[in-house]
Amino acid sequence: MAMDKIQIQCVICKKPFAPKTVDSIYCSKNCSDVAYRKRKAQQKEEEQRKIVVDKIPVDRLYISVSEAIAIFGIAKSTLYRLIRQKRIPAINLGTRLVRIDRAAIEEMFPIRKETPKIKEKPAVKLYSLEPQDCYTIGEIAQKFGISDSSVYKHIRRFSIPTRQIGKYVYAPKSEIDNLYNSK
Ligand SMILES: [Zn+2]
Repeated sequence: MAMDKIQIQCVICKKPFAPKTVDSIYCSKNCSDVAYRKRKAQQKEEEQRKIVVDKIPVDRLYISVSEAIAIFGIAKSTLYRLIRQKRIPAINLGTRLVRIDRAAIEEMFPIRKETPKIKEKPAVKLYSLEPQDCYTIGEIAQKFGISDSSVYKHIRRFSIPTRQIGKYVYAPKSEIDNLYNSK
């Protein structure tokens, strides 16, 4: 069959066209320009993501929505759906202050090859539950201006270990600071 009889589908506008060469994938200059702009926009998005990812400390256990999107390259709508379905532990500390369990997303979305790499894997969680390394629930509530019941809820949501001594419940300072200070 002669080349000019073959019709292929333009990858941009989806209309059939007769390719000039075997490498033609766009029907027109216009579609080729659209494709070029798309590629440029994608590159820019990648660069933006990398900038966000580079700013995230390696030991940050709880991340924001924009950080999760940047690290894992997932759509915002997907992320919110997984949070709603409780498949990824998250809490809402206020407007635009959602905290998401980074390890949980990592398990679900192993870092993709083209995703800007985080320098190292976060270290295995190590806790000290000695009272001097812990806050009591009351101290946490006071320090971060949240209710005792919210503190308990957040601790459960992220499976943060606690220890009861007498009438006080203790939680590791390192974890709590990481959770509430990670702005
Ligand atoms: Zn086209």
